Amino acid sequence: MGPETEFQNPDAEVYMHFLRSHCCYDAIPTSCKLVVFDISLEQIKKAFLALVANGVRAAPLWDSKKQSFVGMLTITDFINILHRYYRSPLVQIYEVEEHKIETWREVYLQGSLKPLVHISPSNSLFDAVYCLIKHKIHRLPVIEPISGNVLHILTHKRILKFLQIFGSTIPKPRFLKKTVQELCIGTFRDLAVVPETAPLHTALDIFVDRRVSALPVINDSGQVVGLYSRFDVIHLAAQKTYNNLDISVREALQQRSICLEGQVHRLVLVDENRYPRGIVSLSDILQALVLTPAGIDALNS
Ligand code: ADP
Ligand code: AMP
Repeated sequence: MGPETEFQNPDAEVYMHFLRSHCCYDAIPTSCKLVVFDISLEQIKKAFLALVANGVRAAPLWDSKKQSFVGMLTITDFINILHRYYRSPLVQIYEVEEHKIETWREVYLQGSLKPLVHISPSNSLFDAVYCLIKHKIHRLPVIEPISGNVLHILTHKRILKFLQIFGSTIPKPRFLKKTVQELCIGTFRDLAVVPETAPLHTALDIFVDRRVSALPVINDSGQVVGLYSRFDVIHLAAQKTYNNLDISVREALQQRSICLEGQVHRLVLVDENRYPRGIVSLSDILQALVLTPAGIDALNS
């Protein structure tokens, strides 16, 4: 039986039904840390240092003139700034030092500012999965419609964790016994990779051009020797080393001296010779477990 028919089995729909019958509020922790930035904050670098200092990966942006949340600030934004303004190790990136968050948003997004994607606590977790995957984002603020307050920032991991803990009593669909290869969950073609000897700014170029969240790092023979993820770029802010992106990816991996709590968002599939064959990320898993059984292909649309 091919992957298509496998996911069309009635028992493949259990996770879809489970997440449809639970709302976002159900997956919100009783207490958590939330950092919010006003877009008029001077020196955008302070925002990234504050993310590091608080151990959070993203923050909603508050516009005091509009009295509403207007966007998110994530590590991808830090990558976009470095990618746009980095020249050489000898030139300080003035824009990181001096720009306000709103200046950056006006300059970079030039009128194409996308509205904040958010969800209400009463919407289903199925809607949250659809939103995350359709908009190709990793952070979904849950906003209480009456007060306008952000209650939590939902991620793929939080939803899968909810499924793992509270969905443990529902019968497991048969396809869970099959291999990733049999089910074709993930990306197996046209993988974005980076050589370990490439300068770090090349890795950032690939992040921007390909919009992928991590790059398998390969040696001269093409074998996987590591992984450089978008999250790793926050180490440059933490260590204040973002002014030199000419170092190699290998050096950048070795310099990850500060232990920052990360989360595994994907696995790299390798063959017996360590050649990269695919990537399975949490987006692929949610697409396969929840959206494919509903007949929705939000990942490739
Ligand atoms: P990360 O960088 O942590 O992987 P994303 O992939 O979600 O986060 O971010 C990609 C881009 O989308 C960033 O420019 C970020 O500011 C923006 N973004 C993230 N979440 C939202 C959202 N809920 N609404 C609008 N834009 C968002
Ligand atoms: P993610 O951004 O990790 O949530 O994944 C979004 C999609 O991009 C998924 O289908 C992944 O399999 C795919 N993907 C992630 N990293 C890579 C990569 N390095 N090369 C190609 N595709 C990737």
